[in-house]
Amino acid sequence: MDNTKETQPNTKQRKVKGRVEIEIQKCKGCELCTTACKEGALSMSETINAKGYRFIVADNDLCTGCVNCALVCPDAVITVYRTVPGSKKKDTIAPASREELELYLKKAGLP
Ligand code: SF4
Ligand code: SF4
Repeated sequence: MDNTKETQPNTKQRKVKGRVEIEIQKCKGCELCTTACKEGALSMSETINAKGYRFIVADNDLCTGCVNCALVCPDAVITVYRTVPGSKKKDTIAPASREELELYLKKAGLP
């Protein structure tokens, strides 16, 4: 019997898939978002933006759309999108506050 089951769900197994867009020219590299992201989906760039800051890049394959990064970003430069794999619906822009998020998830019947 194979006991080497994966402990991390891959993107096909997840009910909800996330995607983030970052306005890199407005990012100041404070890294609050990288700390908030429990999926390790955010990291610092090797290059700098027009303001001279290293900025955040996202690995959207790891993103679950939890919105933590957008909620902590002091400059509101992150937009989070959520989709349900297999659904024909387009991406939904995630709400900007925790209260809105909880209401949205409840209405959508999402975890
Ligand atoms: S939405 Fe959640 S999982 Fe996706 S990058 Fe932001 S903090 Fe990480
Ligand atoms: S929290 Fe916002 S400003 Fe700070 S590094 Fe992340 S995206 Fe950039």
